[in-house]
Amino acid sequence: MKILLVDDDQYLNQQLSKSLKAHNYVVDIATDGESGWNYIESFEYSLVILDIMLPKLNGIALCRKLRSHNYQMPVLLLTARDSCEDKVLGLDAGADDYLVKPIRAEELIARMRALLRRATISLPPVIHWGDLTLNPAKCEISYQKSVLPLTPKEYGLMELFIRSPYRVFSYDSIIEHLWSIEEPAADNTVRAHIKSLRNKLKDAGGDPKLIENVYGIGYRIKSLDDGSFSHQYSSLNRPPLSVDETVTEIWAKIKDKTIARVESIQAIAMANSQDLNDENNPRQYAYIEAHKLAGSLGTFGYGRGSEIARKIEYLLAGEQPLDTDKQTQIEKLTEDLLKELKKTPAKPQIKEMKKHPKTTVQSLLIVDHDTILGEQIIREAHSRGLEARLAPGVGIARAMMVEYQPSIILLELNFPKPEEDGLMLLEDIAYHHPEIPVVIFSRRSSFIDRLTVCRLGSRAFLQKPMSSHQIVEIVTGILNNNTITGTIIAINDDPQILELLEALLCPLGLEVKTLNTPRKFWQVLEISNPDLLIIDVEMPHYNGIDLCQVIRNEPRWRYLPILVLTNHTDPETRAELFRAGADDFISKPVVGPELIARLFSRLHRSRLWRNIAEIDTLTGIENRYKSTEDINRLIRIAGRHKQPLCFAILDLDNFKDINDQYGHDTGDWVLHRFGEVLKKAFRQEDIVGRWGGEEFAVAMYGTYKQDAMKRLQKVLEEWRLEVLVPEDHIAFSVTFSGGVAQYPEDGHDLQLLYRVADANLDQAKQGGRNQIIG
Ligand code: GH3
Ligand code: MG
Ligand code: MG
Repeated sequence: MKILLVDDDQYLNQQLSKSLKAHNYVVDIATDGESGWNYIESFEYSLVILDIMLPKLNGIALCRKLRSHNYQMPVLLLTARDSCEDKVLGLDAGADDYLVKPIRAEELIARMRALLRRATISLPPVIHWGDLTLNPAKCEISYQKSVLPLTPKEYGLMELFIRSPYRVFSYDSIIEHLWSIEEPAADNTVRAHIKSLRNKLKDAGGDPKLIENVYGIGYRIKSLDDGSFSHQYSSLNRPPLSVDETVTEIWAKIKDKTIARVESIQAIAMANSQDLNDENNPRQYAYIEAHKLAGSLGTFGYGRGSEIARKIEYLLAGEQPLDTDKQTQIEKLTEDLLKELKKTPAKPQIKEMKKHPKTTVQSLLIVDHDTILGEQIIREAHSRGLEARLAPGVGIARAMMVEYQPSIILLELNFPKPEEDGLMLLEDIAYHHPEIPVVIFSRRSSFIDRLTVCRLGSRAFLQKPMSSHQIVEIVTGILNNNTITGTIIAINDDPQILELLEALLCPLGLEVKTLNTPRKFWQVLEISNPDLLIIDVEMPHYNGIDLCQVIRNEPRWRYLPILVLTNHTDPETRAELFRAGADDFISKPVVGPELIARLFSRLHRSRLWRNIAEIDTLTGIENRYKSTEDINRLIRIAGRHKQPLCFAILDLDNFKDINDQYGHDTGDWVLHRFGEVLKKAFRQEDIVGRWGGEEFAVAMYGTYKQDAMKRLQKVLEEWRLEVLVPEDHIAFSVTFSGGVAQYPEDGHDLQLLYRVADANLDQAKQGGRNQIIG
């Protein structure tokens, strides 16, 4: 657990941090109020210990500030002042407890434990998870009866997993929780600790796989099949119910309504009235209802119900009046569906896939009965280093997926056997494994097919015939762009819905922040910088339309995807919401594949938009806007860590001549190539951006001028030697000049650094070009 200690008493800091570390807390120390605030903004802390008399910003003001920014972690004030007014002032500012110096470490730690217990929402002091027992007071974890001999980091890892048993932790979030910024860790370090932890579990007789690797996302603790966990969850400690339980509970609420919906579909089909000019066209309504039922019944354990509803949906599609034959079919199907819904639902099957060992190689699963084509695609995939397997039918594909977790699926919709339906498989994948991208590859391609697969989150629709080369090209393109993580804010006054959203989305690696009223929304929005928003139409204080308008009024949030949960199928409300800036609707009840598929598709789309807004298309590197933002962030971190940083401006020499001599297309091609060279030449933590026509910016973190110059010199030598051979032209080469500035010596902010670097670049140009000056 990570603690921030803000105190200017160095000696006390040392003592306290020693005691806290001995109790397995990770401690960051700030020595004045302002840097305390910087830490709080940049990292996640479980608790903050604050001195009152602090330089720059005093403890009370800092406490007020963090509460006004909606930070919820417990705050413990530490002070030499013992007057009653001080205590009142401190507690009124939002502190949770108050300790007067001199303090004893044991008392401080006991109080911290009490605060953390309250904050982690009435967790019992000892937590059980299957055969594991976590005793926070003793910092012990036991498997069955034996205490595991864990190092502090291993204990921290295990505690993190056990306290949030459904959450998948990415490497970044593990590092963020368990390592202080003085000892930054790499993914490898985390991996090594996990390995050693698994070995210790094994030595104690446990299953090392209790810590699961969720491919492409991170780690979590394995769920308990028998549901026998003894966590006492309150509303904030999620999820209170398993997905299954939540789904069952919701079904109980909506069962009667669902039956009424089926009856109304039946009545509409029988009446067969059709007035195309009527905005509330009943046929259209029945069609949409059938579609929604097809999408959601499976989730409630009515798989066959979904199939029947899908058939009804197909019969209702189109604009021709229904003939008697269709009417009879619909009547029969709706009767069947009503019978089906009166049965007890099957337990939704959530198949646990075995993780593919060593998933470093990406793999493709082809689901197609055309084995000749399948083999061709496999060969093509292998030649690109992509593993591939073929499932000639839907049944076989399901069986294979239990053993083998593909990174991507290529799916045909039609199969010779009528019971084999590609759409059904797609629906299952959308629900159980939305993280696996699916590409549809079929001869079928009606608009309704395209629409259906889109709604089920398919990443692309390829129409046969197409060469295996092209297919694999598209598949690898999608794979390389596929890791989706993100933060979602959900606002809803129905706690049930918020719980369900968390239960569905957290296990997929998404972070979900819930609000039951939009009042604090603006603060939470600023702090959590979400990737997507889920709002309700009717909420207390403001409605969804107001909220959309306010968000879209702020340029920063203009592209934030907004999904609206709604019961309103009336076109008026929908149109109004669209006008106000909503992106998509999810009909209540909010369950099943539709929500997940729509949400993932929105996240993908906004990622694409962000790329468009942030990446320069010609060179493939960041544009000026984005790189400026990133360099500013890097400068802040350098300031905090007292690290140097070098900023350079590079400009291609006599570039106008290249355009004049060979044409603009060739000029563009040279810029593209230069972008590639720069991207390869710098480390991941460096930032490279295109700042103007043939002008580029580079920021190198933790690098002194001398080293930066050396690195740039090397890039220049390589670039100078690069022989550029555009099509139909004679070969030539190009040079560049560069100017360098160092933070903080040449300036404390980017503007000052730019001025110095640009002056140096001028000198380099005047001195004959083809050189770096710093
Ligand atoms: P110097 O060595 O002094 O930098 O000479 P220069 O010719 O490179 O500098 P100048 O700034 O005079 O000209 C820059 C040229 O870069 C002018 C412009 O036509 C060209 N340029 C800017 N953006 C693009 C682009 O996107 N594509 C192409 N092909 N040319 C571009
Ligand atoms: Mg130039
Ligand atoms: Mg220029």
